[in-house]
Amino acid sequence: MAENRRFILQRRPSGTPAAEDFALVSEPLPELADGQFLIRNHYASLDPAMRGWMDDAPSYMPPIPLGTPVRASTVGEIVASKSAEFPVGAWVSGLNAIEEYSIGMAGGFSQIVDISIVPSPTNFLSVLGAVGMTAYFGYLEVCQPKPGDVVLVSGAAGAVGSLVGQIARIKGASKIIGIAGGPEKCARLIERYGYDAAIDYRGKSVDQLTAAIAAEAPDGVNAIFENVGGDILDAELNNLAMHARIGLCGLISEYNNPGEKTGARNIWQLIVKRATMQGLLVADYVPRFGEGITEMAGWLREGRLVFDEHVDEGIDNALPAFLRLFSGTNDGKMILKLS
Ligand code: NAP
Repeated sequence: MAENRRFILQRRPSGTPAAEDFALVSEPLPELADGQFLIRNHYASLDPAMRGWMDDAPSYMPPIPLGTPVRASTVGEIVASKSAEFPVGAWVSGLNAIEEYSIGMAGGFSQIVDISIVPSPTNFLSVLGAVGMTAYFGYLEVCQPKPGDVVLVSGAAGAVGSLVGQIARIKGASKIIGIAGGPEKCARLIERYGYDAAIDYRGKSVDQLTAAIAAEAPDGVNAIFENVGGDILDAELNNLAMHARIGLCGLISEYNNPGEKTGARNIWQLIVKRATMQGLLVADYVPRFGEGITEMAGWLREGRLVFDEHVDEGIDNALPAFLRLFSGTNDGKMILKLS
């Protein structure tokens, strides 16, 4: 019987995760019980949220227990089954872990996916997976787009942000401004993702960022899709139009910060501009994923949406691949190839 290599959390990271926080272990596969099936995970999604799940802190999900594999969405093929609903040969995506094999069960987190409709099964971890649904429902439901909006997106060249800018275009925004790190990503925002303007946040103070946003949006910003937090969020708050809507999707600048959090210091501006800031969680939209996937798949077919994936290979590369999300060296949705 095959062995299962698993990427285990053995210590809670303090700040940026280190090699000593994890262990790669090899374990024999357990026997399947009735209703269970065995998934050969081909790809794992590496998401910033996983950093939060490593902490022992209150969240929307329990912390990853020490000694267990790091929780992650995966896509893979069923290679053994004791469930009629999940036959051998079917492909599934769902919330599993960074491990070569996962056990699923009917009524659990796995959904059968039709890989014949996409160029690569990885697409169910990117544009047609949770990332795509975050951009779609987060922008449409929380940012409440209106034609003519001036829209601002932070983390704009990333997996979620690159899609938000394009959805904003489809929904009639008049100007779409992206914030990203470095000249290459800023060029990609405009040339590939159709942003109208790009702001490189690197090396800029809150005042300089505030001025850079004001130069692009002199009358303020109507909708903000926030992925970063900290100084960037503070500068955005200084540039609100009346009744602006801020969708709070992520605060990646704070995930590896074990000390005091840095933002948001300018929330007074919410009062000044009668603006709203609302948190969003993609999990709330799972029952509506079919709707989002159908519309996004249509836009892909029509050539109105492009997306990028950054695939690193090998379970032994799990940590360096994950850390790309925090150094910004991922060019698209960060995915780990496990087979
Ligand atoms: P991603 O944007 O593909 O990758 C992360 C990017 O964040 C990096 O490439 C880097 O881009 C930027 N970044 C990292 N550290 C930063 C810092 N200190 N300051 C400024 N920028 C920094 O990742 P993603 O999967 O699309 O996730 C983006 C955000 O969405 C995250 O905050 C994540 O937690 C959130 N999210 C939320 C939900 C939800 O349901 N609420 C679901 C999915 C994702 P640069 O090179 O441009 O710095």
